[in-house]
Amino acid sequence: MAWDVLIAGGGFGGFYAARTLARVLPPHSARVRLVSEDNFMLYTPLLPGAAAGTLEPRHVVVPLREELDRSIHLRLAKITGASPGRNVLHVRSLEGTIEDLPYDQLIVAVGSVSRMLPIPGLAEHARALKSLPDAIAVRNHLIRTLEIAETLEDGDARREYLTYVFVGAGYAGLEGLAELQDFAADIIDLYPRCRVTGMRWILVEASERVMPEIGPKLADFAVRELRARGIEIRTETTLDEVTAHSARLSDGEIVPTRTLVWTAGVKPHPVVAQFGLPLGERGRIDTDSRLRVKGLDNVWAIGDCAAVPDPARKGMPCPPTAQHAIRQGRLVGRNVASALGGAGRMRRFTYKTKGVFVDLGRRKAVATTGPITWSGTRAWILARTYHLAMIPGVGRRARLLVDWNIGLLFGRDTAELGRLGEPRSLGASLADGESGPDGAAHAGVVSAQSDQSRVA
Ligand SMILES: Cc1cc2nc3c(=O)[nH]c(=O)nc-3n(C[C@H](O)[C@H](O)[C@H](O)COP(=O)(O)OP(=O)(O)OC[C@H]3O[C@@H](n4cnc5c(N)ncnc54)[C@H](O)[C@@H]3O)c2cc1C
Repeated sequence: MAWDVLIAGGGFGGFYAARTLARVLPPHSARVRLVSEDNFMLYTPLLPGAAAGTLEPRHVVVPLREELDRSIHLRLAKITGASPGRNVLHVRSLEGTIEDLPYDQLIVAVGSVSRMLPIPGLAEHARALKSLPDAIAVRNHLIRTLEIAETLEDGDARREYLTYVFVGAGYAGLEGLAELQDFAADIIDLYPRCRVTGMRWILVEASERVMPEIGPKLADFAVRELRARGIEIRTETTLDEVTAHSARLSDGEIVPTRTLVWTAGVKPHPVVAQFGLPLGERGRIDTDSRLRVKGLDNVWAIGDCAAVPDPARKGMPCPPTAQHAIRQGRLVGRNVASALGGAGRMRRFTYKTKGVFVDLGRRKAVATTGPITWSGTRAWILARTYHLAMIPGVGRRARLLVDWNIGLLFGRDTAELGRLGEPRSLGASLADGESGPDGAAHAGVVSAQSDQSRVA
């Protein structure tokens, strides 16, 4: 009898679990199904590059059907929960029907979402930098603020549009801010009024220093580099309130701004609460060191949604990083094969962080590889080389190389394609074409207003 193995989530953890299962399971011994919302894995370390227009958005994702073995069945669906007592995963199909998928072994790898805090106005006015649509929306918004500021006569109003506040200085937030500021600095010459007014970039962090993930020496290097570019770094400061036009900080300053990007950490995907599994630290699924969910023989959890004991820090769960999710994905593949009677015994998770790369834009980065620390251009070359080696697929690597080299030679594209994902209906386009001079003038006013409300 062939076993049914289900993988819930096609990100780093799920992708590497599927790859490993395809390799280690004897042929035809199991049907392995990967259920995910998207048919690609987002390579998040390159997301800031996509936000800053250095990389084509399509080049920072890995299409699952191209990169997974043909023996893996990909099923696009929304996972809504599970009933471990009945061994079924609940999903809503693309056509909207509700289905129960049976399993003998279930691997949960649904990742995380941005962590929210009860700060007035945060949910309504802040932007995230977590998914590909987030990154593209932030980029489009940035260009739009420049376009609007360029049309404004009033200096104060222009300054409001040209002030950008990022909250959360982990490496993802810091990288996002650094890359976007670099992009804006690159293109501001195209906006003469904005250039005269100048931009203001602020990074707000509640703890006493940026990037707790890396040593203080490298974090200091990053801070010096960013301050030299005029970026304000406010540590031991919190965000107290956001409105459409301002951000109020704990030091009392009310910063007039139209842009607040929230990069203050992640929490497990809310769907994990519907799995009926034991939840541990901060709502992550409780597992043992072999990645098995506590109290269950046939359910496993990995990646950002799981509290896997960290071999590097006794009593703590692993940090939510791709490095850990990849290694957990590979290990869970082997352990599930072993649980199904395959060769090899079950192993514990022993991986400890080997290095960190933080791209600061402008051909600078900071990095640690084992005991060695790197900064400046050498770290930047190392970071790019590492991602070239890590992203799956030769075609993907070639695309990255082309994007990076074109960016170096010709700069970055400044087109704002915010309407790409929101095509107008045929009727609306025809109505525009038919309107006379008055109608056209009226349509212009409406669209300018709606553009401004998109920025607000
Ligand atoms: C901007 C940014 C930069 C980062 N840079 C780095 C870095 O440089 N190095 C590093 O190690 N880590 C980095 N990380 C962290 C890294 O991205 C995560 O730790 C990693 O993605 C976790 O892998 P995962 O498999 O647990 O989750 P994910 O990779 O997020 O995958 C989860 C998958 O589950 C799917 N899913 C979720 N819910 C459902 C549902 N209800 N139905 C169907 N499918 C669902 C999602 O679509 C997704 O495919 C970065 C993160 C961000 C946001």
